[in-house]
Amino acid sequence: MTTRPIKLFNSLTRSLEDFEPIHPGEARVYTCGPTVYNYQHVGNMRAYVFADTLGRTLEWAGYKLSHVINITDVGHLTSDADAGDDKMEKAAASAGKSAWDIARHYQQVFEDDLARLNVRPVQHPRATDYVEAMIDWAKGIEDKHCYRLDSGLYFDISTVHEYGRLARAVTESKDDEREGRIESVDGKRNAADFAIWRTTPAGEDRQMEWDSPWGKGAPGWHIECSVMSAELLGHPFDIHTGGIDHREIHHPNEIAQNQAHNCSEKSGANIWMHNNFLVDRRGKMSKSSGDFLILQTLVDRGFHPLAYRMLCLQAHYRSELEFTWEGLGAALTRLKRLVMSAEKLVQEPGGDANHPKLVPARTKFATAMADDLNTSVALTALEDVLAAKKIDSGAKRAAMEEMSLVLGLQLDALTRKDLRIHPADAQTTEAEIEADLVRRKEVRAAKDFATSDAIRESLSAKGVEVMDGDPLGWDWKLESPQ
Ligand code: AMP
Ligand code: ZN
Repeated sequence: MTTRPIKLFNSLTRSLEDFEPIHPGEARVYTCGPTVYNYQHVGNMRAYVFADTLGRTLEWAGYKLSHVINITDVGHLTSDADAGDDKMEKAAASAGKSAWDIARHYQQVFEDDLARLNVRPVQHPRATDYVEAMIDWAKGIEDKHCYRLDSGLYFDISTVHEYGRLARAVTESKDDEREGRIESVDGKRNAADFAIWRTTPAGEDRQMEWDSPWGKGAPGWHIECSVMSAELLGHPFDIHTGGIDHREIHHPNEIAQNQAHNCSEKSGANIWMHNNFLVDRRGKMSKSSGDFLILQTLVDRGFHPLAYRMLCLQAHYRSELEFTWEGLGAALTRLKRLVMSAEKLVQEPGGDANHPKLVPARTKFATAMADDLNTSVALTALEDVLAAKKIDSGAKRAAMEEMSLVLGLQLDALTRKDLRIHPADAQTTEAEIEADLVRRKEVRAAKDFATSDAIRESLSAKGVEVMDGDPLGWDWKLESPQ
């Protein structure tokens, strides 16, 4: 099968590069997954919508995709530092549950959220299933690259070629800022050295701990991604993704371990890609702020999860994106417009997308996606297809389905009804609203405008806005009672 050329932005070189697979016809992608000690906020989910759009694009371009999104179900300290509490154990203690239960629970929530965002199922290996392999890896690099402290086994970053090249920490003089983020551990040779193994302090118990040559303890966070990517995809593999914060510490550390283990100056992956942040008025959305937005909050406010996917697709993944409720509302309206046109098409038989009249829109789409996933332009190409006049609907349907598949918008299945805003705390049901509106129609036909107004007002008191003559064909809108 022939493949389409694609350009991707490589954070390692800070430039656009042609995607050239290591194994002909295949694309192997590793995405840093969540630490499952809490809910993922919608900012985290942007990272997975991006990774999924990348995977879909590679498949559309003709590659056989192997994609891994790992689950960090062990440890991970409360900062990128090597000191401080263990997030998983801390969450377990405050919930009065075992660390294992906490991890399983939040992994399930995460996977449900992925499904709601139409992120395709991929492999989700758990770190706790790879601890033996991590110990073996650490043993292999210990002599040349590591040193022991009471608190564990540390990686000496001065032993590898150009440590931090990905972060550009040195050349972009972010040194102080960067090192300032790393809490010091007594005895570290370099401020940026990091733990490969965290030995449980004497007199303390961890729920999640394993025997190792460096005492009972738990693996450091960075080692798990090096090990799981090597085990599941082989080194080197094609593309490694994560949020832009990982470009600074986590990924440079993974690279250092890969260099040590693979006895190579190379990073372990050909292309490193990073999505920018979802921000709100207070700045980067983060868990430490406490009150963060999760997908369920959006659903409770009545938004279909794919409205959030649409919001993400409207921006380039390398740009910051601000979350506002108005922005989410606008994304939902745009999705509704697409669904309105698509709903009609899916009733028609499919055809051949190769219709001369669709060439400009299809070329625009292909060029945009191959240009480092320019989804915002690709969306306008999809709109062009749906707006095309005087061409047979089979061709339109085929082109629409192809584009919808790449963008993950499910236009072949979504209905306008699915997208109706329906807040969890609504004080009425759709059936009641529809019944009231039927009655309103009858009384209006009988010119009983007083009763008609009364029905409208009683609906309004329940948060229902009646929208006569709405161009999108919505007769009513239900809002959360504020
Ligand atoms: P974590 O569970 O903290 O490791 O985060 C999971 C993923 O979400 C990582 O790839 C992070 O880089 C990414 N991430 C964290 N915060 C944001 C944000 N506000 N916007 C976009 N991505 C984020
Ligand atoms: Zn990782």
